[in-house]
Amino acid sequence: MEIESMVANSALIKAREERDYYSLCVTQPIGKKLFQLFCRSRPELHKFTSLQDALEAFETKSDEERREFGFSIIQKFLRSQSNQCVSTMVTHEESCIQNLELDPCGDVFRDCTADLHKHLQGEPFTQYQESMFFDRFLQWKMLERSPITKHTFRQYRLLGKGGFGEVWACQVRATGMMYACKKLDKTHIKKRRGEGMALNEKQILEGLDSRFVVNLAYAYETKHALCMVLTMMSGGDLRFHIYNIGVPGLDKDRVQFYAAEVCCGLIHLHEKSILYRDLKPENILLDDNGHIRISDLGLAVRLSDGSLVRGRVGTLGYMAPEVIGHKHYGMSADWWGLGCLIYEMTAGQPPFRARGEHPKPHEMERRIQTEREEYGDKFSKEVKELCALVSPEPARRVRESNINQISVGESNGVFLLQLLTKDPDQRLGCQSSGGRDVQSHPFFEKINFRMLEAGVVEPPFKPDPRLVYCSDVQDIEEFSTVKGVTLDRNDNDFYSKFNTGSVPVSWQNEVIDTGCFRELNTFGPEGSRSPDLVW
Ligand code: ADP
Ligand code: MG
Ligand code: MG
Repeated sequence: MEIESMVANSALIKAREERDYYSLCVTQPIGKKLFQLFCRSRPELHKFTSLQDALEAFETKSDEERREFGFSIIQKFLRSQSNQCVSTMVTHEESCIQNLELDPCGDVFRDCTADLHKHLQGEPFTQYQESMFFDRFLQWKMLERSPITKHTFRQYRLLGKGGFGEVWACQVRATGMMYACKKLDKTHIKKRRGEGMALNEKQILEGLDSRFVVNLAYAYETKHALCMVLTMMSGGDLRFHIYNIGVPGLDKDRVQFYAAEVCCGLIHLHEKSILYRDLKPENILLDDNGHIRISDLGLAVRLSDGSLVRGRVGTLGYMAPEVIGHKHYGMSADWWGLGCLIYEMTAGQPPFRARGEHPKPHEMERRIQTEREEYGDKFSKEVKELCALVSPEPARRVRESNINQISVGESNGVFLLQLLTKDPDQRLGCQSSGGRDVQSHPFFEKINFRMLEAGVVEPPFKPDPRLVYCSDVQDIEEFSTVKGVTLDRNDNDFYSKFNTGSVPVSWQNEVIDTGCFRELNTFGPEGSRSPDLVW
């Protein structure tokens, strides 16, 4: 498809409405690349891009490397004697050296980075918008907005089945990227009034961008289904790994690693005021490399600043006492869920139900609200202290103290809180610093959360690419449409809210990660204005 400049112009007019530097040059991956190409083409801006690259590389360095690498950045870019010096940045030299000496793992270059963007969003950003690089960006945006239909994808095998339909492996024809397509059958949605839930999941997913939560890349409709195209997670779910491979349960390193990644995912959701509410092993999926992501956000809810919700939502065995008890609750429900998950990964069975036992709902509720879970010998001291109060003594002292960073069993004289505490006010993760308290718990001592969040930690287990980590496809029942449900015009309104096509950041990452950007984004000789983008 060739993009005519006339068409590009109409996109330009549209883009004028949202000329936000951060969105156009930082958040959108192709926008960022083109802005950097523009800067590289200007001698006076070249150094800014090199500094920006160095600051990004700094984030992927190990704790030991950071000090030296940090100093090399200062020497090269912040010192007036250096020929690469970015003169507007020299004022930061002193404070950056201080920061680096104080704590190389802290946010050493924060002010410097803020200043860098402050400079770039002025004159350089204005000039960029007059350049051929911005024209090219608009051409990419036009491609991004092409209608999405089932013909956009090749369909492969069935991956799983959910409440409203199936999940299939699929591939984008144009780029070769593999995804998982979650198809919600329209008649099923209508029969069970699942419209709100479907739209909720799609709208929450499109606002997220975390390596610990599945990404939404496309939302589209077919005659019979609404489809969400998601990050492909081909390593199976945690339920499968806990129960279907050898002795139930996972070894300590894996428990720690998965718990840490889930913790980062929850922090990301909570920072966006989203309560997840459905934490359980089958909703945590592994990718080819052994990293996990939180998936299935159908029950997630956005809480406007600090407000609480009510509603017995989730899966009974994993619901927090305050959820079961019809109370108003907030993010506390997810920290309880993390406690259940860590318990189950360790023990090879969930906290309030023995293997093979199927207690009545009423009995499950009673146990969750009043009974103490049992800790067998698979539990180390650290994991026990993370889940439950080990001795009754610190609890009293916690209640008497007014500090926030309270509790656990006693560890080095510090009182730490636990995840499976019935009272949400006394639970770990539910104090003012939220999930950061969970990350500082001694259980996670060996986890470097900074590097984990930068995506540079090797997982302790890598799925075998020759194995399929799920039930046989034959065992997954096929889905059929519900008879006697007719779709009418009122349904179209809902479908059109759902059917929004590509999600910009995901789409742009796809184009970059598959090499299509590098291959197609060529310019004329010696940086001259080029022929238009050809897809
Ligand atoms: P539901 O909301 O109906 O429970 P899910 O989102 O949990 O649906 O998806 C159903 C099943 O499909 C999952 O249990 C899993 O086996 C599979 N699945 C879902 N998302 C993915 C994905 N991103 N990659 C691979 N498989 C997936
Ligand atoms: Mg599910
Ligand atoms: Mg769901």
